[in-house]
Amino acid sequence: MAFNLTRRKFLQSASLAAVALPLSRAIASESGVKRSPLEAKGSFKDETVVGGICEMCFWRCQLVGKKRGGRLVKLEGNPKSIDNGTSICARGNAGIKLLYDPDRLKFPLKNVGERGNPKWKKISWKEALDECGNKLKAVEDKYGAKGICVFPHGSSAKYPMHFFERTVGTKNVSEASFFQCRGIRDTAYVATIGKAPGEKVDMPNAKVIFLLGGHFGENIHVSHIKRYLKGLQNGAKLIVVDPRYSASAAKSDIWVPIKPGTDTAFLLGIMNYLIATKKYDADFVDEYGDGFEEFAKGIEEWSLEKAAAACDLTVQQIKEVADLLADNAPNVSIHPGRHVSWYGNDFQRQRSLACLTGLLGAFYVKGGWVPAIGPKVGKLSWEHKEHEEEFNLNLNSDDELYHPFTPPGTPTELIRDAALTGKPHPIKGCVIWGQNPIQTIPGQEKMKNVLRQMDFVMCVDVMPTDITMWADILLPEVSYLERYDYIKTGTQWDLSEKQQQFISARMPLVSPLFERKDQVFITNEIAKRMGYEEDIPVKTAKDMVEKNLEVAGLSLAQLKKEGGIHIQPGKNPYNMPDDFEVVFFNEDIEDAGFPGVPTYKPVEEPPAGFARLIYGRVPVHTFNRTQNNVWLHSAMPTNPVWLNDELAAKMGLKDGDEVGFINQDGIKSRTTTIVKTTPGIRKDCVYMGHGYGSANPLMTVGVGAGVDDTSLVTKIAVDPETGANGMRNNFVKFIKDGKIINIPTAA
Ligand code: SF4
Repeated sequence: MAFNLTRRKFLQSASLAAVALPLSRAIASESGVKRSPLEAKGSFKDETVVGGICEMCFWRCQLVGKKRGGRLVKLEGNPKSIDNGTSICARGNAGIKLLYDPDRLKFPLKNVGERGNPKWKKISWKEALDECGNKLKAVEDKYGAKGICVFPHGSSAKYPMHFFERTVGTKNVSEASFFQCRGIRDTAYVATIGKAPGEKVDMPNAKVIFLLGGHFGENIHVSHIKRYLKGLQNGAKLIVVDPRYSASAAKSDIWVPIKPGTDTAFLLGIMNYLIATKKYDADFVDEYGDGFEEFAKGIEEWSLEKAAAACDLTVQQIKEVADLLADNAPNVSIHPGRHVSWYGNDFQRQRSLACLTGLLGAFYVKGGWVPAIGPKVGKLSWEHKEHEEEFNLNLNSDDELYHPFTPPGTPTELIRDAALTGKPHPIKGCVIWGQNPIQTIPGQEKMKNVLRQMDFVMCVDVMPTDITMWADILLPEVSYLERYDYIKTGTQWDLSEKQQQFISARMPLVSPLFERKDQVFITNEIAKRMGYEEDIPVKTAKDMVEKNLEVAGLSLAQLKKEGGIHIQPGKNPYNMPDDFEVVFFNEDIEDAGFPGVPTYKPVEEPPAGFARLIYGRVPVHTFNRTQNNVWLHSAMPTNPVWLNDELAAKMGLKDGDEVGFINQDGIKSRTTTIVKTTPGIRKDCVYMGHGYGSANPLMTVGVGAGVDDTSLVTKIAVDPETGANGMRNNFVKFIKDGKIINIPTAA
C-alpha cells in the first residue's frame, strides 16, 4: 500500500497528522531533542507596509513591503494596484539589494584627490552643504546663472532641477530621458498630433502590434508588458522590425531584419504604398488630416522597390507588413517606442510613425493609440522667477533656434560645447543628480574635459557610479524605498475593462540608515546658502506630497488607510477630442528649414572590417543603474556580444570566447565580454546590452563586469531638429588575445 501512495496523498496525510499532533512535539518525543515550535508557512509575523512605488526603473510600479524587525525583507506588487497588480519584475524584487547594498553612499564625501581619480574624505553635512552652497554661489556671482549646468534624472531630481531652472535661472539643464532617450519621440508627435505619445497604445485590444526597434521582454515595464502579452493572447498579430532576432521578434508573426538606420525609408515605403493603392483610411484623413496632399506628393518617390533597396529587404517583405496593417486598420498599435535616440535622423522617423498611425485611422480607437484619462494632482515646486538676464544656448546670434523642436531643457552638446569653448559664455558649476553622464551621454572624453574645466562639481546619488568619481562633493541620497516624492496616477491597464483611475504616492517603507538625506532637505539647505531662502516652497518632502494630494482631495493618511492606492471611477478614453488633427505636412518644420514631410536621410555605412555597434536593454538591468545589484548581477553578470554565426565561423570565434573591441576612432574597450554567436543578427552589426563595464572600484560587484558600450560611442551624432544624440553611428572590430580581428561583412 505504501508503494501506491502518491506524493499528493502523502502530503495530505502528513498535513492531517500535523493537525492532530504538532510536528515539533512529534520530533521532540521521538528524538528527545527539544526544539522551539515550528511556525507554519506564511506566519513569520511580517508587517506589511504600503505606499511603495518602485524606481528600479522609471515605470514606477506600486509596491508593498514585508518588514521583519524593522528590516525590509521582501517587495511585492500592491494587491490593490489596477496597474501592475501583484506583479513586479526581477529588478523590482531586487530593490531590497539596492536598499541594503554595502557599497551604497552613506556619508557626505569630499574629494581630496583629483576629479576622475578621487580620494574621499568623510565630512559633516554642514561642511558639505556649506561647500556646495558657497561654491555654486561663487559661480553664480562670477558668471551668472548661465554659468551653472544641471544633469538631473529620476523622481527626486525634479525638485532640485526646478530650483536651479526656475529660481536660480539656469537654462543649462539636460535630462538624459530627453536628450539621450525619448525626447525626440515626444517632440515629433507634438509636431504631428499636438501631444507627447508616451507608450499609450491599446495593445490588449489590437489586431496588430507593430514594433520598430522595440524589444519587449528585454525591455520590461510591468503594466506595459501585461498589455502587450494580453494583446498577443487575444490573437493580435505581431510585426517586429529589428536587425536582431530579439525577444519580441521571437514571438512575432513577421520579423523584418532591417538594415540599421533605414527605418524611415521602410515607413515611407509602406505609407506611399498605402496611399498609391488606396488602402489608407481616407475618411479619417479627410476629417482629421492636415497637409495630406503635400505629404502624399512628398513621399511619392518611395516605391516599394526603392524602400526595399534602401533597407536591404525584399519588396514582398515590406508589402506583407503594409497589407497586414491595412487589413486590420484601425485596430493597430503602432508603438511610438521609448529609447529612440539612434542615428541622428530620428525626428523624421518618429514623425513617420505618427503619420502612419494617422493613415491607418488608428488614433482614439480600440487597439490604437489611446491616451487614457487619469486623475489630476498638484505640482507644487519652486516658482518661476523673473530673471534680468535671459539666455539660451539654443539661440544663435540672430536669435534663431539651432534646434527648434527640442524637448524641455537644452541639448547636451550645446552645454558641453559652451563649457569647453567658453562661448557664448563659460559654464563653471555643475550639478549632477541621479544621472550618470559618463555612461549615458556619448563622448566620454568630451564629458571628462567638460568636468575638468569646472570650478565646482557636485553629485547626489544613491550609489557610487562612474560619474560620482568626478565630484568635488558627493552627497548620499535616500533611495526610493526610504523617501516621499512621486505621486503616480493612471488608469486600469486594460482600457476596455471597467473605467477606473488611481492615485498612489511614494511613501518610505523603511527609515533611512546612515546619514542619507532626501532631495528637499538637500536642495533647501543649498538654496539657503545661495541666498534663496525666501523662495523655498516647502519644508519637507512629506509636506510637498501632502500638498499635491490635497488637490485631489486626498492625504497620505487617507491613502494609507486605503492600502496605499486610491481608486475612483474613470472616463472613456476612446472619445476623440474636438480639436484633434494629424499634421501630415508641417509648415512650421518647413519654415524652420527642415523637411515638413517626413524624409529619410541615410546614415554612414560601416567601414571595411567594422560592424555597426547597436545596443539595447536587458530584462534584469536598468541602464547602468543596477550594475552593482548582487541579485541582478548574478542573473546576468556580463553583456555578451551578439555576432552572426556565419561571420563568427569566418573569424574563428565561438560562443563564450572572451573579446574586447576597438572602434573606428581607435578607442579600445577597457574590459572584455563574451561572444554569443547566433543566426539572429544581421551581418552588418553586432549587439550588446547597455550599461555594463563600470570603472568605479567602489562598486565592488559591478566594476569591470562586461563592456561599457558608451565608451565605444565616440562619434557623436546630433539630430538636427531636436538636438538629441544619436548613438548608433559607431563601428567596432573585435580584439581577442591582444589581436584585432576584422569583421568580414563589409570587407
Ligand atoms: S517594471 Fe520592474 S523595475 Fe520597473 S518599476 Fe516596475 S517593478 Fe520596478
